[in-house]
Amino acid sequence: MEYREFHGQMISRLGMGTMRLPRVGGKDGAPIDYEAAEQVIDCAYDNGITYYDTAWPYHEGTSESFVGKALVSRHPRDTFALATKFNYRANPDYRYVFETQLERLQTGYIDFYLMHAVMDNSIDSYLSCGCIDYFMEQREKGRIKHLGFSSHATPPVLRRFLEAGDWEFVQIQLNYLDWEYATTHEEHDIIAEAGLPIVVMEPVRGGRLASLTPRANDMLKEAHPDWSIASWAMRWVRTLPQVQTVLSGMTTVEQVLDNVATFSAEDTLSADDLAVLEAARDAFHSELVVPCTACRYCTETCPAGIDIPEVLRLYNKIKMGSQTSRAMIANMEGGHPEDCIGCGLCVSQCPQGIDTPAIMAELTEIPAENATTRSIPKKD
Ligand code: SF4
Ligand code: SF4
Repeated sequence: MEYREFHGQMISRLGMGTMRLPRVGGKDGAPIDYEAAEQVIDCAYDNGITYYDTAWPYHEGTSESFVGKALVSRHPRDTFALATKFNYRANPDYRYVFETQLERLQTGYIDFYLMHAVMDNSIDSYLSCGCIDYFMEQREKGRIKHLGFSSHATPPVLRRFLEAGDWEFVQIQLNYLDWEYATTHEEHDIIAEAGLPIVVMEPVRGGRLASLTPRANDMLKEAHPDWSIASWAMRWVRTLPQVQTVLSGMTTVEQVLDNVATFSAEDTLSADDLAVLEAARDAFHSELVVPCTACRYCTETCPAGIDIPEVLRLYNKIKMGSQTSRAMIANMEGGHPEDCIGCGLCVSQCPQGIDTPAIMAELTEIPAENATTRSIPKKD
């Protein structure tokens, strides 16, 4: 296992996320399968993982208690680091939340404490409710060792929150797909500029990078038949020097062992491997989204009055995991996907050969309030 020093403490570069523990019967919403989940935690601990990440809302509020019982009560407290979070939306009473978390986790202190999921529409709640001063006081008292936050914010809002506190680390979603096709690279550079280490969440993008399209999978398998597709994503994140620890929400012992092997290997990715990964990533992305250039040749003739390039732009965002773009399509002026009569006039005008009527039909099937039904799962 690879370790990296953080303020004098050696922390494993692979961290155990506890938001996807095994559930009874493998069913969504079912309670944690304690016995199976304990085996996963034991496997992580025995293989040298020393960073355990939980949060108030995970597993319908039971993840922290599970970690307290399965990890904290069974091992010397100084052999691992605990991370948990204050989530304003889940419960804004930060004093009550923090005291309850210490009880749930059966500990007198939290090693890494985070403001949870800072976003453009939640930043003001965190900045105005008084929680930051309170948690800084807890740090002075030794009840919190290190203070940071997890961000899903746009780059300017991330910068604003960075400037609002005396933070020691930042957690962001970071993976090779979003690095190229979203704002992740910019977020990384903003945090690096501030001199703070990064804890990575969603290195495999909620599992989406565990299996790409058949063509992209083949490219990776041809280069390294013995590497899992998911391990490419973990290896890539491991190459970034600003990254302190990479979280993986592991459900099975097999996943733990695969990740441990990745973070124990001497080598990460060679220049040739990186070239293969970039080619596979681009192939995957091109098959995932439609290549509309917004030339607007199709819009004049659409009898339904649909702003086709705008719909396709938002459709691509849905495919990349946007949770708001389906509702934006529903709120557009003019025609909507449901108004498409399948006349095909747009297809005959399109230099890119895009099958727009098929996409309109697909969008009609996706409810506006559930825009991610057919998309890449995203974010915690
Ligand atoms: S197929 Fe649908 S989107 Fe295309 S021109 Fe006809 S009505 Fe408009
Ligand atoms: S003609 Fe094709 S590429 Fe041009 S705007 Fe319409 S869908 Fe997009």
